[in-house]
Amino acid sequence: MRQSKLLFKTQKTLPKDEVAVNAQLLIRANFVHKLMAGVYSYLPLGFRVREKVMEIIREEMNALGAAELLMPSLQPKSAWEASGRWEGLQKIMYQFKDHSGRDVGLGVTHEEIVALLAQGIIDSYADLPKYVYQIQAKFRDEPRAKSGILRGREFTMKDMYSFHADEKSLEDFYEKAKKAYTRVFERCGLKSYVTEASGGDFSKSHSHEFMVETPAGEDETYLCRLCGFARNKEIADFKKGERCPTCTAGVLEKVTTVEVGNIFKLGTKFSEAANLNFKDKEGTLKPVVMGSYGIGVERLMGTIVEVHHDERGILWPETVAPFTIHLLLLGEASEELQKFADGVYHEFEKAGVEVLFDDRMKVSAGEKFYDADLIGLPWRAIVSEKTMVQGKIEIKKRNESGSKTVKAKEFIAEIKQ
Ligand code: ATP
Ligand code: MG
Repeated sequence: MRQSKLLFKTQKTLPKDEVAVNAQLLIRANFVHKLMAGVYSYLPLGFRVREKVMEIIREEMNALGAAELLMPSLQPKSAWEASGRWEGLQKIMYQFKDHSGRDVGLGVTHEEIVALLAQGIIDSYADLPKYVYQIQAKFRDEPRAKSGILRGREFTMKDMYSFHADEKSLEDFYEKAKKAYTRVFERCGLKSYVTEASGGDFSKSHSHEFMVETPAGEDETYLCRLCGFARNKEIADFKKGERCPTCTAGVLEKVTTVEVGNIFKLGTKFSEAANLNFKDKEGTLKPVVMGSYGIGVERLMGTIVEVHHDERGILWPETVAPFTIHLLLLGEASEELQKFADGVYHEFEKAGVEVLFDDRMKVSAGEKFYDADLIGLPWRAIVSEKTMVQGKIEIKKRNESGSKTVKAKEFIAEIKQ
């Protein structure tokens, strides 16, 4: 992609109310644009990161045997009445009347909707288990949308739902989902802790949250670094310096974390409300056992920024970077130099290396370096008169200070390994 063609101009001023590091960096570098508190547009650079994060999630959910579908945001009150949550969620759900006086709302989550649609499909033990997921917009009237894209009023959630004949089947899948979630976050460059948490308004039993350590988080977690035991402070009753209850060797630390994912054993709460039953082998009618599993796509993206940045800008992990390499054309480019730079750009493109080519004219070298560090692609390559005479480019990693001068072809071979 040519930077001259990108909707891009480094922002020097920020919205006054934007205090979160993730949003400050993402706004300055033109990844996102803030429309109002908790509502953001994703510009071409941000769009690409979001796509990559979603693709990682998709791969891991597909590997679990889950099938992707899509449910609507606009929902009738009637879908929410049986579970009793229409009233319960009043404070956070956007609820209103349409022009014909019908009560409708924008979905905050989809347990009710998925149970209703499965009700017409699942009717025998032979139909179970089944797993479905979507990557879809959620709306929540969050009272404190101050964490940038970590807490949106409109945001994207990957929500998966599982249907089982019994608790044992749910238990098995739940454990597999835990591993898949941990892999998703790892592939995004994040260490996550599987954290015991409250069941929320879903169930009496506990749920598991996936916590990433960062001062930007809104949660507090007791953590044992030795064995990885983690419990949300909301349900923990530990004293300072207490030993870990599972390994007993480690000492618990209270750390600030952000919840990037959350999984629940729902039991039969929503299937009973939606009349989602199945006939077992003996022909007895039983409610389907359900689980639900969420990941916040933009929250995950924002957490990556919170964890991977320095004073100059973002440091994207290669797996989610909008492009792999930032190619900078420096100096008053002669026709010959422009041609050379174009050649290198095409060589990268042809080799399938994702490249952002800063081909902007009348932009100083200093500005280009500044923007490159802010945008934070994993690699930076410079083309100048000096490198051209050798037929080479100067390569540097975003997180290292040393550089080396190599032929484009050699570098391509290196990163393709
Ligand atoms: P929180 O406690 O942070 O408000 P939650 O427990 O209400 O989140 P869930 O209903 O469990 O969230 O949603 C599943 C996932 O969706 C969360 O783990 C989080 O990653 C993401 N998520 C929830 N609310 C938001 C939001 N307002 N903006 C962005 N992502 C969110
Ligand atoms: Mg949660």
